[in-house]
Amino acid sequence: MAAKGIPEDVLMDNDLIKDLVDVAKDSALLNGVLMRTKETPNSSEVVTYAPFTLFPSPVPKDTFHQALAVQTHYNRLVDKISQDSSFLEEALSTTIKVDDFTGRLFNIYRHVLQEGKTQSIVLGLNRSDYMLDQNGDGSASLKQIEINTIAASFGGLASHTPNVHRHILKVAGRLEDSKRILDNNPSAGLAKGLAKAWELYGSERAVVLYLVEELQRNIFDHRYVENELWKRDGREVAIVYFRNGYMPQNYTEQNWEARLMMERSMAVKCPDISTHLAGTKKVQQELARPGVLERFFPGEPDVVDQIRATFAGLYTLDMGPEGDKTVAMALAKPDQFVLKPQREGGGNNLYGAEICQVLEGVKQSTERMAYILMDKVQPRPVHNYLLRLGTPLKLSTCLSELGVFGAYVRHGQDMVLNECAGHLLRTKSDEHSDGGVAAGVAVLDNPLLV
Ligand code: ADP
Ligand code: MG
Ligand code: MG
Repeated sequence: MAAKGIPEDVLMDNDLIKDLVDVAKDSALLNGVLMRTKETPNSSEVVTYAPFTLFPSPVPKDTFHQALAVQTHYNRLVDKISQDSSFLEEALSTTIKVDDFTGRLFNIYRHVLQEGKTQSIVLGLNRSDYMLDQNGDGSASLKQIEINTIAASFGGLASHTPNVHRHILKVAGRLEDSKRILDNNPSAGLAKGLAKAWELYGSERAVVLYLVEELQRNIFDHRYVENELWKRDGREVAIVYFRNGYMPQNYTEQNWEARLMMERSMAVKCPDISTHLAGTKKVQQELARPGVLERFFPGEPDVVDQIRATFAGLYTLDMGPEGDKTVAMALAKPDQFVLKPQREGGGNNLYGAEICQVLEGVKQSTERMAYILMDKVQPRPVHNYLLRLGTPLKLSTCLSELGVFGAYVRHGQDMVLNECAGHLLRTKSDEHSDGGVAAGVAVLDNPLLV
């Protein structure tokens, strides 16, 4: 059998597709790929399927395994950055002057740094995201989009989507394809990290505090990880697990105080403030400078190579000749770049004409330092159907983003756990250049290894 994606004749068979869509939605419900509705985000009386693709999307086997293999190195990198205060100070010194949100996070960081750390256990649960950049010869290269060190989501639901796609493919008469969908269990991998940190914390009665959003549509994603923990039993706050707190809108003045209080507490923070800052786009850009990875991995050139191979071009917008060059480059060819502020959650980046508009406005002022510039990754588009409540069915031209979950626990100087915890494929229509699942743009998917 040809190792390809879903053939066009299947995608164009309207009667089959109509049947499959009904089967797919029921299968998503039966397998617990669920979300609360927009109308009643805090009640489970009425729930719906989380948005997902009708078919899995092709991902080259080698690239997929490359992404999994580099994850434990990324875990170590994030952890090393979080412990390197002079690097964080230097990398973020310009950003915090002009970006209020990062500045306030940094104030908390300085505060706890001065006081001294209260807790020697560090728990990291992150997700490194990639797109596959097309090369001229038809091959593709794995390029990191970003790493999320706070509130990395959809590990729970991703543990349940493989069965949905397997079932759809079976009903479509594509049994062989259905066998090519991998098992995936990030819930267990993430819960393993939480459980390990809890165990090291060492109080039988202590609990894990989930910090959640006011609107909780994605409750089932949380519950899967939580339920893994209930299997172990527990009660006092051993761990604060942030599934909120990554956007300025998440913070009132009172919430900023609460964040500081948590950072100063004995609880293990996932992430602690330094690990949160290690996940900023500015840090990502600084890591791409020559010699920086070598500084974090002295004597480990293979690790450096493996990580660097996944870097797309990243450019500073700090004041000075280097930043001026970046401005000129972006204005000359805006379609080749993405302009990124220090924000999370999708929908914040700028593309094409917007890049010119914004850069023309800020290019002479220090405000430009709030952004970084990145090469635009150009994945090969694939046809698929995106299933989302209330959206009419149509064949879409889609782009996929592969996420890999990492889980690690450090106790003092000892890495006691460092694992790749599973993967997540998200797919969106190429009409949108930005936005994740929670932002209502991308949908859940599975890789069909080719
Ligand atoms: P966020 O933290 O808001 O998720 P991202 O850096 O992941 O920020 O960008 C959001 C989305 O924008 C990504 O999911 C991807 O679809 C798109 N995107 C970001 N960077 C690039 C890039 N360099 N090339 C192509 N698309 C990108
Ligand atoms: Mg992000
Ligand atoms: Mg992202």
